[in-house]
Amino acid sequence: MPKHLRGKPVSNTDLSFRDRPINLDERGGRKWVYAKKPKGFWYTRRTIFSWFVLLFFIAVPFIRINGNPFILLDVEGRRFIIFGAIFWAQDTLILALLMLSFVLFIVLFTVTFGRLWCGWACPQTIFLEMVFRKVEYLIEGDYRKRHKLDKGPWTLEKVGKKLAKHSIFILISLAMTNTFLMWFIGSEKWFVLVSEPIAANSSGFIIMLVVSGFFYWVYSWFREQICTMVCPYGRMQGVLLDSNSIVVSYDYKRGEPRGPKTSGDCIDCHQCLSVCPTGIDIRNGTQLECVNCTACIDQCNSVMKATGKKPGLIRFDSEKGIQHGHQSIWNPRNKAYSVVLLILLSFFVYTLLSRPIIETTILRTPGLLYQENENSTISNVYNLKIVNKTHDNLPLEIRLLSHEGEIKMAGNLMEIADQSMFEATFILYLHSDLLSSDKTEVEFGIYSDNELIETYKTSFVSP
Ligand code: SF4
Ligand code: SF4
Repeated sequence: MPKHLRGKPVSNTDLSFRDRPINLDERGGRKWVYAKKPKGFWYTRRTIFSWFVLLFFIAVPFIRINGNPFILLDVEGRRFIIFGAIFWAQDTLILALLMLSFVLFIVLFTVTFGRLWCGWACPQTIFLEMVFRKVEYLIEGDYRKRHKLDKGPWTLEKVGKKLAKHSIFILISLAMTNTFLMWFIGSEKWFVLVSEPIAANSSGFIIMLVVSGFFYWVYSWFREQICTMVCPYGRMQGVLLDSNSIVVSYDYKRGEPRGPKTSGDCIDCHQCLSVCPTGIDIRNGTQLECVNCTACIDQCNSVMKATGKKPGLIRFDSEKGIQHGHQSIWNPRNKAYSVVLLILLSFFVYTLLSRPIIETTILRTPGLLYQENENSTISNVYNLKIVNKTHDNLPLEIRLLSHEGEIKMAGNLMEIADQSMFEATFILYLHSDLLSSDKTEVEFGIYSDNELIETYKTSFVSP
């Protein structure tokens, strides 16, 4: 509990925020948050930043690097393209390192700057505050008008406004879903899909409608509850933040005792509360619901200006910063995380740069054992899979390195296009004199222009 609230009798201070989320009533019912439209220094910057994030979100499926998508999360094809580099299912270690580094970066960022990501860059907040909420402001007006409209009777004006707002919400939800879809299937495939009759892709079409319906439900009704009740990142704040973390904070040393005629700077005007999209009072201290959107900083600064006081009663600061003045953002905890992150990233870069240019898998065809042939040879059938990770077409050839034998495949030479996968079946013949047991290890070599680029060991079964 913040210092200025400690020891105060509950009857004198509303501490219900400690018992339940602010947007739920005593019986668990939804309390609608009518947030006032923010404006000010931080809101302007947040708006501009959100334009870039939105532009990135929309543009990514159309950006190409060397002909490859900039980012493609091709789950069906089991390959991920991140910043133009392709990661196949075989690159699990590299992907695991990347994910681990990303998680650690988030932890480091949160330990240092709190939930800044949530208020400034999270797609949920960007779409809610910078897209859907702006449509709402435009059609229904600011918080007081919206509140009055919702509480008022169903007049023609109210029906018209609600219809217009929800129709636009549905259109935006459809556009969002289709853009997300392009992140997973690529823009070319998306254009092909939408140019075909719906009946040709009915299951995909239904999934698209369901996801759009989900987005519509989130942004028209569920809203900030994603951040306050669902998002696991939000719920981790309690363990990630400490007294050094820089978050949106109320300077209780300066602000208290609050009131219009007290010595504290806070005039208790509740303006900071009125703009909060999650409906909390930041003066109660750092709370799980605070997404660090900075709207309350702007609002309080305008109050401070109007009352002739210094801005920054609510500001980005740490608990230690408020208590003892200026603090460095560096402390032993985030320094340790930074070192580990640096090691992880170095390992990731090394693994990425040193990964083989092709990835070969040769496995005996399931269900088939061996065949005894008339010329005293034994044959096994194999499935061959080669992934070309380079940006060039590769002419490849497979040879047997460990034994004298014969490989029969429809054309031993394989031309594998850049960043693609080649699959084939071949038969290996070995003379029975070469086989001393029922299972022999054989080694294949994959050559490109007579240069050995990868070897692969597997087993050969015989009687
Ligand atoms: S806006 Fe500032 S002055 Fe007004 S209640 Fe909030 S902290 Fe106090
Ligand atoms: S308390 Fe301030 S920073 Fe936190 S969510 Fe509310 S308005 Fe945004």
